Amino acid sequence: MREYTYGPFQSRRLGLSLGINILPEHVVCTYNCVYCEIGPKSRDSLVSPEHRVKLPVKSRFRKELISVSKFFPHLDSMSFSGYFGEPTLNMYLLDFFNIAKDVRNNREWNAKKPKLTIFTNSSTLYKKKIRDIVGRFDLILAKLDVASDEEFIRTNRPHKDVPSISEIITSIQELRNEMNSNNKLAIQCLIYQSNREKFESNDNPKNIENLANAIKKIKPHYVQLYSIARIPAEYYVFAIDNARKQEIINKFKEIINDNSIKIDYY
Ligand code: SF4
Repeated sequence: MREYTYGPFQSRRLGLSLGINILPEHVVCTYNCVYCEIGPKSRDSLVSPEHRVKLPVKSRFRKELISVSKFFPHLDSMSFSGYFGEPTLNMYLLDFFNIAKDVRNNREWNAKKPKLTIFTNSSTLYKKKIRDIVGRFDLILAKLDVASDEEFIRTNRPHKDVPSISEIITSIQELRNEMNSNNKLAIQCLIYQSNREKFESNDNPKNIENLANAIKKIKPHYVQLYSIARIPAEYYVFAIDNARKQEIINKFKEIINDNSIKIDYY
């Protein structure tokens, strides 16, 4: 039985991607997003960004990666996933990273070595110590769905200790400046709609404009726009269609006005 890895799955963004989970069996996250595909958070699973998950790396992690690499020598990505919550909460993240990097560098792969990828919801990046670890990954996928605190509270429903959205945007900017220059940063924006009266979704002109301006400041390598793909935590939110995604992409491109940033939807 595998303890740390799942998949691999074919992903439009990452190619053949092996999921790596370094969190406990129950979800641990600093947000309780209205669209979360793993359901609403219980009192125990919504945690402060200061919370540390004390799950040290076991020898089994290396063995599991080696065994998976034998079956899938054509992997494109080994992805520390946000599917079970926020991976940067694990205080042993660097140990996991070092082992994954060692396996990635020293195994035989078919064509090219898989990327080491991390998904983060960005809430812990205000800590330099965490940015220093996250910045080592080949590809960092950082969540940013909103750019004002009002929208942040409505959409991501953060734990009370999570910094303001402007502090989060500044910390992503710092990460971009500090990270290893060979590595890449993608901003992931999940945009959704709502059919609940008096509940404004993040698909509104003000948010799209504010988000574009925040991204312009951050200067990531990529912007990846996407929407809800599975059953969300709240019944009143739903996915936007591809035509709407394209409209938002066009608006982003107009405001960001920087051809070095690759902006796409998935
Ligand atoms: S950050 Fe991810 S895991 Fe956490 S609540 Fe939001 S969607 Fe769910």
